[in-house]
Amino acid sequence: KLLQQISTRLLSCTRQEDTTARLGGDEFIILMPEIQDPHDITILCRRILKRLEIPHTLSGRDYTVNVSMGVTIFPDDAETPEGLVKNADIAMYRAKETGKNGYQLFTPSMQETIMKRIELESRLSEALCHNEFVLFYQPQVDLKTQQVVGAEALIRWQKPDGQLAYPDEFIPIAEESGLIGQIDHWVLKTACRQANLWREQTQRNFKISVNLSSSQFSQDEDLVQRVNRSLEKSGLPAECLTLEITENAVMSDTEGAIAIMTRLTALGVSIAIDDFGTGYSSLSYVKNFPARYLKIDRSFVKDIPQDSDDVAIAASIITLAHNLQMEVIAEGVEEQTQLDFLTQQGCQQVQGYFYGKPCSAEYFEQQFLS
Ligand code: C2E
Ligand code: MG
Ligand code: MG
Repeated sequence: KLLQQISTRLLSCTRQEDTTARLGGDEFIILMPEIQDPHDITILCRRILKRLEIPHTLSGRDYTVNVSMGVTIFPDDAETPEGLVKNADIAMYRAKETGKNGYQLFTPSMQETIMKRIELESRLSEALCHNEFVLFYQPQVDLKTQQVVGAEALIRWQKPDGQLAYPDEFIPIAEESGLIGQIDHWVLKTACRQANLWREQTQRNFKISVNLSSSQFSQDEDLVQRVNRSLEKSGLPAECLTLEITENAVMSDTEGAIAIMTRLTALGVSIAIDDFGTGYSSLSYVKNFPARYLKIDRSFVKDIPQDSDDVAIAASIITLAHNLQMEVIAEGVEEQTQLDFLTQQGCQQVQGYFYGKPCSAEYFEQQFLS
């Protein structure tokens, strides 16, 4: 019904000589012959945006949809139907990236960006085969005892040319291309193995935190099995593993996510909600998360204690967590003053450059475990 309503609205925006078609799914194509002035295209795009902005009523309820449009021009951008559709698609993805509602005209530089992306994708899958990923470890310090009680495993890509790439540069692409499943699996196995070695060496309890991509969390049916197998293979006790998930991972399918979290906690694994406060979770759901830790995002810690808003937010998150029987880990602690404030508020653990940057396993061992 929604698609039908959208079709009707699209038709009301176009001219007699235009063709409007649904390509499949939620994708439509409008073919506009005889455009005299390129300016007419932007006028049409704006008209469509305005028309589709009005909520759709279905069974008495209002729904709003977001629209992204890509425009390509014959024969300037491409000369074949396939080429035109491909370019329009590329431009549409760019529109999607830049905002929820909008349109983009195709430019040749978009083509370059796409080519770079495709190249990066294939290099990422080579990187997996050639073992080019490494894990860095950042200490997590207990504020009561001032001891390093664990580490967060953070992935790096050691490229063949010697450059070290950070997750922000490749994780989003790995997520889009579906490689993230294999990468996260590798991280999980490697981190569990390393943590168990350290536990045996030091004869101390040591907790390792591993980040899980949001796509993994919502899609991967055998995640629980995979975690279980990594624990068994490495010998690491389940209570030494924490899985970090962001709020957004949980919000797209909250019921499903809570079910997976419950199965993971039944294994003995802890769950941490990463980057808390930056996503869209609603408090009524947070209440139901079987999570043990809330991690306060660095953006709220950065300007403590100068910024009174951040002070209030950090203090509130700590109170909220404690009222829900969760422990708090503050991220990105760089200054003594931040540490003092967090200690005074009753925050349990911190992580940040103040105690140590993420570093190689060897360095971590020398610096924090001997
Ligand atoms: P995150 O899990 O929130 O990790 C914390 C990030 O903050 C890390 O960046 C860390 O290096 C940085 N950081 C820690 N302390 C400080 C500090 O005091 N000051 C500043 N300026 N930064 C600090 P990194 O390693 O670049 O990781 C970025 C994000 O990439 C992570 O955010 C996580 O969401 C993702 N990520 C990292 N490793 C993995 C992985 O193995 N799998 C998946 N799926 N995602 C990962
Ligand atoms: Mg994390
Ligand atoms: Mg974080």
